[in-house]
Amino acid sequence: LCYTARVRALTSPIQDPGPHTGGAAPELPLADFYRDVTFHGPLLQGITAVEAVGSDFIRGRVRTGHPNDWIPGTPRQAWTVDPLLLDSVMQLSGYVAFTRFGRAGTPVRIARYQQLAPFPAGELLCEVTFGDLDPNSDLFTGTLWMRSLQGELLAVAEGVTARLVRVEGKAERPVIKPEWIDPSLWPGLKDIEQRLQGAQALGVRNPYFSVHEGTAGDTTTIGGRTYVNFSSYNYLGLSGDADILGQVVQAVTKYGTSVSASRVASGERPFHRELEQKLAACQGTEDALLFTAGHATNVTTIGHLMGPDDLVLHDEFIHDSALQGIKLSGAARRAFRHDDAAHLAQQLAELRGHYQKVLIVVEGVYSMDGDICDLPSYIALKKEWGCMLMVDEAHSFGIVGATGQGLREHFGIDGREVDLWMGTLSKSLASCGGWIAASKPLVQFLRYTAPGFVYSAGLTPANGVAALGALDKMLAEPERVTTLQHNSRFFQDELTKRGINTGPALGESAVVPVITGNSFHALQLSQRLADDGVNVQPIVYPAVADDAARLRFFLASTHSEEQLRRTAELCQLHLEAIRTEFPVPS
Ligand code: PMP
Repeated sequence: LCYTARVRALTSPIQDPGPHTGGAAPELPLADFYRDVTFHGPLLQGITAVEAVGSDFIRGRVRTGHPNDWIPGTPRQAWTVDPLLLDSVMQLSGYVAFTRFGRAGTPVRIARYQQLAPFPAGELLCEVTFGDLDPNSDLFTGTLWMRSLQGELLAVAEGVTARLVRVEGKAERPVIKPEWIDPSLWPGLKDIEQRLQGAQALGVRNPYFSVHEGTAGDTTTIGGRTYVNFSSYNYLGLSGDADILGQVVQAVTKYGTSVSASRVASGERPFHRELEQKLAACQGTEDALLFTAGHATNVTTIGHLMGPDDLVLHDEFIHDSALQGIKLSGAARRAFRHDDAAHLAQQLAELRGHYQKVLIVVEGVYSMDGDICDLPSYIALKKEWGCMLMVDEAHSFGIVGATGQGLREHFGIDGREVDLWMGTLSKSLASCGGWIAASKPLVQFLRYTAPGFVYSAGLTPANGVAALGALDKMLAEPERVTTLQHNSRFFQDELTKRGINTGPALGESAVVPVITGNSFHALQLSQRLADDGVNVQPIVYPAVADDAARLRFFLASTHSEEQLRRTAELCQLHLEAIRTEFPVPS
């Protein structure tokens, strides 16, 4: 990585009036100033002495900093503009603001900064000269002079404006805008309302939050009508399975409806460890840990493992749960182009050296397009660059691989090649929750310290036993997985032979998009299919770009070829009609 700055020779040399002499001794001890007046921590406390304060100046000594104090491990030896020095000289004006006006002052603008010579390590003699306070705006403007201890002028910042922010003793009553407390004024809420009204105005029903009156499998009942259903992740048809229901009823009868506290605090039930051990065995890892939601699994795991010294590199299409975890962690974040390992390699070459831990996050199968990630390339890169690799198997576990054991099985790799396998219980495992499968030390670390595990109640008996029953059944009845895989390819073929755009995936997962390329067309198609008894969700702008608007079909092992063929026929019929009725202006 290289830093560049434009340097311009001075056209009008600065007239140095030389440091002020005289002035009074400081009234407020520096230690009190830093403790009671400013919010600066030790790293930013650069004033070493306040020497004199006059009617229009303050002079003090300020220490310079080194890039390594701020960016550990950086090869840079000097700053272009020293942030510690500049901030600390401005703190001198804050000192005046407080001692003279009894108010805190914060800099709001620098008109021009000129560096005349590099700063030496150690201390500089710094001065702020300032004009009168404008009582209307509470602003005052000054000049920062930075000189060597021998008096040579090294840098000048002109037109530095500071604003007084607080009256000592009684805080000014802050202005509270209505939109800070009234959710009905929030732009996000207004957007939703406008979108729903827009859809209504176009004669499209709200496709969201429909109430299903029974188990959502290959069919579902909504408003008394039965639909062929493509909007649920019941990939292996195990939600509603009679054997699993029986096991769940027994478990709930025995253990109750809740485990009533965190597992750390109040203990576990046998199904917790049993399910973890079986998941670890599937992934070929030493251990696994259960969480109570898939989303929370990513948030708490990434949020906890990574920190401000770290970097997360992720596929641009990564799920929201990973993004939230990254935000929570405070780590730096960069997206690489979708499934583009070469782009990731380029980013690693530029960035790896600047961070401590680096985590690469990919999904086994991407939930928008249903394509499988190029896992071997990511494993090679994470080894080459000393990173950790996390694979979200939400849409690949139970779906991909000869017996549904996900990407590890699909690519025939050793499970230990991936640092963190993540999965959910809400899809093929017919339950609700999430899991991480990893090495013993990593799982041990999460088990005792991950906030979303330690401070959250354990997985409920109904959810734990449902997932355990589903996992056992998935392994015992591999034909569920092979039928699902057959259905995906079959449906994909039925669509493509009718000229329908299904995106980059090859029918190798249970997510099959029908890309309409226009949000209104997607809403219309979803509605017309519903009229014909097919339930499938549209994904429209702004969730995806308008030209990527689509219907997203989730296939199940329980769908019949007849249901799939008929649905493909209806897609073709309606799409042609919609495109004729509502041509997209070129
Ligand atoms: N990761 C991915 C890739 C997902 O698609 C989802 C949900 N669809 C999750 C995580 C979160 O899982 P859950 O819905 O089980 O909380």
